[in-house]
Amino acid sequence: KRRIGVMTSGGDAPGMNGAVRAVVRTSIHMGCEAYAIYEGYDGLVQGGDMIKQMLWDDVRGFLSRGGTLIGTARCMAFMERPGRLKAAKNMILNGIDALVICGGDGSLTGADLFRDEWPGLLEELVSNGELKADDTQPYQHLNIVGLVGSIDNDMSGTDATIGCYSSLERICHAVDDVFDTAASHQRGFVIEVMGRHCGWLALMASIATGADFVFIPEKPPRAGWEDQMCGIVRTHRQRGKRRTIIIIAEGAHDVNLTKITPNQVKDLLTQRLRLDTRVTILGHTQRGGQACFYDRWLSTLQGVEAVNAVLEATPETVTPVITIRENKIERSDLMEAVRLTKSVSKAIEQKDFDKAMELRDAE
Ligand code: ADP
Repeated sequence: KRRIGVMTSGGDAPGMNGAVRAVVRTSIHMGCEAYAIYEGYDGLVQGGDMIKQMLWDDVRGFLSRGGTLIGTARCMAFMERPGRLKAAKNMILNGIDALVICGGDGSLTGADLFRDEWPGLLEELVSNGELKADDTQPYQHLNIVGLVGSIDNDMSGTDATIGCYSSLERICHAVDDVFDTAASHQRGFVIEVMGRHCGWLALMASIATGADFVFIPEKPPRAGWEDQMCGIVRTHRQRGKRRTIIIIAEGAHDVNLTKITPNQVKDLLTQRLRLDTRVTILGHTQRGGQACFYDRWLSTLQGVEAVNAVLEATPETVTPVITIRENKIERSDLMEAVRLTKSVSKAIEQKDFDKAMELRDAE
């Protein structure tokens, strides 16, 4: 029986459990055995009881649960070849030659590298006496399939990442709650949401809540934005709005890449407009909580597709990432998606904001 490993890695996201459940149950349905690798790449490097067979009932109740029940970690050891050698050895010891990895672009870059190095890692393990050549013989090809788990919706080539809609839902509820108190006291609120290089959560939340102003990394405000923002808020107040909501992505900055902080925005509203203004940093509440309908659906369909991709792979197949485009679950070239994702961050770092927006639009 083929053995398929499943792992969650990098930042946790609601829906990751749904993906694990779908991979486990589809593997079993297709006549394979499923193995959970606990704590991301740490589990693969450490081996032992960090790699456990999963039966049908072991993933019961996973679908709605937030976070990741098989754990995740940032693993320094896997960044270096000796760590990946240990990981390869543990794969062989457990008879696993296919991995479905649900994580962000970092995790998927690591996965692609692992596959690239694969037969070489086995040869090294044989030549240094850690494994016998015969034992590695059946495992010459490593199948890797990526699933994108990230609340930021920051991966190119897919319309949505697993977790982003659950997070957005929580942000909208949090902003609604703040709205009530803001309107009661006629206050202003500056709300910081997650997103270091990607303003998707901030932008979508601001549309969905009717915020007055939004700051996102891809399109920083022009010089003189302080006057523009205060002018807009003043106009809204004159029209009878009793509260002011400004949403700011954690990676927001101006055109010179100088960080714009929530307190800076608050001080502007307080000093120039005499608005009683508070800062709310939503922090990790954005990550937690139940997966929303969309993430349960997406993670299930993509988990099934990931196992299909494993079973249909040939040695020539490029490493796929499972995406969704125009509501269709698809397989895309993993490294191409990672490359495009990184080019947005690079454009921002080079202050080429038109290019950053162009790349986002092209997605
Ligand atoms: P995310 O997957 O959410 O982007 P990280 O960038 O922290 O999160 O990556 C998660 C883990 O993936 C890292 O701790 C490391 O173990 C592995 N990883 C990331 N980048 C690489 C890389 N270039 N080579 C090998 N492993 C990597």
